[in-house]
Amino acid sequence: MTLYLDSAATTAVTQPVLDAMLPYFTEAYGNPSSLHDFGRRAKRAVNKAREQFANAINADPEQIFFTSGATESNNIVRHSHAIVASAFEHPSMSQMRYTTIDSIIDAADVLYGFSTDITVCWQYVNSETGAIFPIERYAELVHSHGAKIHSDCTSAFGKINIDVKELDLDFASFSGHKFHAPKGVGVLYIKDPTHFHNYLTRGGGQEDGKRHGTENVPAIVGLGKAAELYKWTPLNFNSLIDTRMKLLNSLAKKMKAKYMVLTASENIPNIICLALKDINGESVMLALDSLGICVSTGSACHSSSDEVTPMIKSFNLSDDYLHGIVRISFDSVLTDDEIEYFTDKLAEVCEALS
Ligand code: PMP
Repeated sequence: MTLYLDSAATTAVTQPVLDAMLPYFTEAYGNPSSLHDFGRRAKRAVNKAREQFANAINADPEQIFFTSGATESNNIVRHSHAIVASAFEHPSMSQMRYTTIDSIIDAADVLYGFSTDITVCWQYVNSETGAIFPIERYAELVHSHGAKIHSDCTSAFGKINIDVKELDLDFASFSGHKFHAPKGVGVLYIKDPTHFHNYLTRGGGQEDGKRHGTENVPAIVGLGKAAELYKWTPLNFNSLIDTRMKLLNSLAKKMKAKYMVLTASENIPNIICLALKDINGESVMLALDSLGICVSTGSACHSSSDEVTPMIKSFNLSDDYLHGIVRISFDSVLTDDEIEYFTDKLAEVCEALS
């Protein structure tokens, strides 16, 4: 049995998404900037995808800008504004040390006195553990200081309801390949596009001049379709919770090795981050890989505790757990057989390695 339990790293393009994309490679291959029929058809497809994505996060279509992914979306914000970022951000945003919203507000005050157009960056969901941050509250606080807020919603899309108006975000980034669209396509949400000055100033003016370069029409079409199909719904959410509970119960019954589940007070259901006692997470990942099971080490730590990520550090684990980080992530319901197979193999591998 092959089991892919690394959906937080990437997901498959599903058949309906691929079907929606295919005509735009070979039949409707016009350039959206061309004024003739082929071009107009491509432009309509891009604008339909814009509407589909806007609907999924309660934005207006004019607030949606297609990019090559969340890395680019983050970089557009980073280079266009003075930013202060949390310690938990993806490397494309920054590597700061601020682990609380209060420390970030203080830092912003010291660095900029809030006199410039400053943006605070705080992800909605952490990709290592699935921790959900209270972004609505952070947005309120940041705005009360006259600053703007950017949230990397890459790990949040489809797993938690995202309503950019309710959250009152100024910017947000998204990555298609985390929700069954292809790799290399993403979104930057901009609340007030008329006052956004992009650092990329030269090009063909695509995406209202916010992101120059001929649009990747098939990928954008795929992203729109995937957003429609895989946006958050209570039904999907509950079925993921069901899988999470079954998996955790099965682990609790079978694991002889000691472990902790690194979970926040609010966590998305589809990421389970384990800290195994006196077992190396990378060895577990490799042993499972040889059995056809894909998990990740959560990029948590390597050889010394200095390399432990700020997120894992925030759990204050003792040294004997720090090297045993294993991240299990899934994107759809797992069958009982899959759960039993996986937990059998994980328990066996851990026993062999301890
Ligand atoms: N932000 C987060 C939280 C991510 O997990 C990732 C992808 N691992 C990115 C940004 C980068 O996204 P992309 O692959 O679309 O560049």
